[in-house]
This record gives sequence, structure tokens and C-alpha cells, in this order.
Amino acid sequence: MNSIEKMVRPNILTLQAYSSAREEFTGSEGIFLDANENPFGELNRYPDPLQKELKQRLSVIKGVPPQNIFTGNGSDEAIDLCFRIFCEPGKDKALTFTPTYGMYEVSATINNTQLIKVPLNNDFQIDKNKALLALEDESIKLVFICSPNNPTGNCLDAAEFIIQNFKSIVVVDEAYADFCSTTLVNKLQEYPNLIVLQTLSKAWGLAAARVGIAYASPFIISLFNKIKPPYNISKLNYTAVIKALENTDNYESQKKLLIEERQKLSEALSQIPIVKKVYPSQANFLLVEVNDANSVYQNLIQQGIIIRNRNKEVKNCIRISIGTPQENKALLTALQNISV
Ligand code: PMP
Repeated sequence: MNSIEKMVRPNILTLQAYSSAREEFTGSEGIFLDANENPFGELNRYPDPLQKELKQRLSVIKGVPPQNIFTGNGSDEAIDLCFRIFCEPGKDKALTFTPTYGMYEVSATINNTQLIKVPLNNDFQIDKNKALLALEDESIKLVFICSPNNPTGNCLDAAEFIIQNFKSIVVVDEAYADFCSTTLVNKLQEYPNLIVLQTLSKAWGLAAARVGIAYASPFIISLFNKIKPPYNISKLNYTAVIKALENTDNYESQKKLLIEERQKLSEALSQIPIVKKVYPSQANFLLVEVNDANSVYQNLIQQGIIIRNRNKEVKNCIRISIGTPQENKALLTALQNISV
């Protein structure tokens, strides 16, 4: 057994995956009487369980071989699969750095796995000593690092340090990596314990299609494929995504606009009296400290603007997604109307 195999739950390692008879058939035309489908219609056939064409396209865009790519029903699916592969319910633990994306805790709880939360320091960075101390606990099988981090917006500089110093699996969630210039997708060869998550929900503008990506070693990808539901991406979504991925001009221009708007909005927010601080962001949202986050949140709702109240995680902070130029203007006007 190699060292990564030892980290996998034994029942997952020995699991026989669900298989479809069509996997053995390589032709494109045939008489398909194997899957109890209705023979009539346009959406009557199950989609490709391994999403080969999509992986091929992502491979070209990202410069990562298809065998290092898993695609799923949003990256939320991949987060859940990580727990199911590596954490024995009621026994193993996972760790993350807080404040961070809420689904790590939700998925941990669903999978009956204790999530250890190590607070980020005042600059929202990982305290390396604190991290190493916490990681001495041998029952920790999974570490989640969100970079750029949601809701703080900054990249976590110590991500690679943690991968190098932790023998078990490190998941780096790069849902917002398109908006900054750092990514670890090109480090998979170097780090067999690394899983990088990305998504088409943010910069690619495909949140409704629910497609997320995990990049990892072919062995880890084979585990994802083994335990996922057989047809985890619908044909309708698949077709829409393949088409959208062709339009890289659209992706590039929207990304550029959102990054410009992020800068403009950040500067304009800093001029508003109730705003105490706008944190620097490498994502498509801003973390903003106000005098009273609860009342600003409620007041904006009354004005028809919905943001995120992050007061519980970061005192008196709200998180604002970057909208269209018009939406951002409307937000600024609404905030000018608030006096508390
Ligand atoms: N990771 C992070 C850090 C996120 O903020 C989100 C979405 N809010 C996700 C993952 C989930 O993305 P998806 O739409 O791909 O499930």
C-alpha cells in the first residue's frame, strides 16, 4: 500500500463501484437495451458518467491532464466526497482555518466528522506555529484551505507550507482563483496529498449549471469517480457548460470588468461615513467593516439589496458580491441613505 492509499477509509478502498454496461462499449452507435431507459425522446439517455468531453476541454484550458480531473455537481459535491473518502465517521477529524466557507463544517457534520477550527491571525493569514501544533493530532485526515478565502477575500500565503508539512490530505479550495493570479493546479505532481477545488460558478458565470472541479493525482481522482453518484452531471447542464467554455473571450472580459469594479467599489465604499474598513480582496466580493453590521444588513434588505451579514464570523462585517456597474452604484446610493 502506498502512503496515500493508507489514508483512505478501508471500506472505500475495497468498494466495488457501480458500473454501467456502456463503459465497455466504445462505439458511438448501437442498440442500447442495458439501462432501462425509454427508447424515445431527446433526453431519454443517461449522460456520460465520466464527463470525458468536459474534462478534455478543462484539460486544455487549465493545462492539467484529464486523468487528474474530476467533475461534479458543484464543488460542494467534491467537498462532501472528500469527507466520504478520507474520514471514518465518528472517528477521524478534519481541520480548517476560520473564518472560512461554511460548507466545510456542514459537510463535516453530515459525515459525523469533528472539524477543528484554527483561527486565522489578524491579517486573516494562517499562523504557521498554531497550525503545526493543531496538526500534531494524528486523527486529522483532511485539511481545508480556502484561497482566496471566503469571506475574507485574501489568498492564504501558507497553503503550500501546510501541504509540505502535513502528511495527510490537503484540500485547497480555489473557487475564486480566477480573480487572482495564484493557483496550485500545476503542483499536483509535486504533492500527491494535494486536492485543488475550482468551480464554474464564479468567474465562468455558470452557477446555475452546478459544475465544480477537483484536481488531484489519478489515484485520488479514481476514488472520487468510484464513490460519486453514477450520473452526477445532467445532460442539459453538460451541454450548456461545454458551449460556455468555448467562449473564453466572454470569460476574460467579464473577469476583467469584475476586477475593475472591485477596485472602484472598494474605493467608493471607503468614502462612505458608516464604513470603517474595506479589506483588500482577490476574489469577486469585498469584506467590509461597518459601524453596525446587523442594522446595515436589515436596512439594505428594506431597500431591496441583499448582501451577506458576516457579523458572527467577523465582528461588524458584511460581505458584498461585486455586481454589475449599475448594481454597485445602487448599493452605494443605498448605503449613503443609512446613518447608523
Ligand atoms: N467553495 C467556496 C469557497 C465557495 O465560496 C463556494 C460557493 N459559495 C463553493 C466552494 C461552492 O461552489 P459550487 O457552486 O461549485 O458548489
